Amino acid sequence: MTIFKKIIDKEVPADIVFEDDKCLAFRDVNPQAPTHVLVIPKKEIASLATAADEDSHLLGHLLSVTRRLAGELGLENGFRVVINSGAEGGQTVDHLHLHLIGGRGLNWPPG
Ligand code: AMP
Repeated sequence: MTIFKKIIDKEVPADIVFEDDKCLAFRDVNPQAPTHVLVIPKKEIASLATAADEDSHLLGHLLSVTRRLAGELGLENGFRVVINSGAEGGQTVDHLHLHLIGGRGLNWPPG
């Protein structure tokens, strides 16, 4: 079981900023910018690479929630959404998550 599943089950505390029946959003414990929130599905999907075509509606919902949160969290000057997938993608927790990052200028390309 991943740490994110334990956060979904409220076995591990997190600074939750949004929750509905399909997803949860909470602040990253090691923020890379003034605003750094993770948006995760409650369904246990290991990564974007292993999501199924029938998860399309859920994936769209995660993006919509992320867009709404960006507005609510005051990121009107811009923000970045990142999904790390797999070892070379830099994924460290095997539960799909969208990073919503903002509040400072962000460089490109990422490392
Ligand atoms: P990734 O490297 O894309 O898999 O991102 C995993 C993210 O989860 C990292 O940014 C971590 O800082 C974050 N993280 C790990 N454990 C926790 C936790 N208990 N609460 C909040 N964020 C966490």
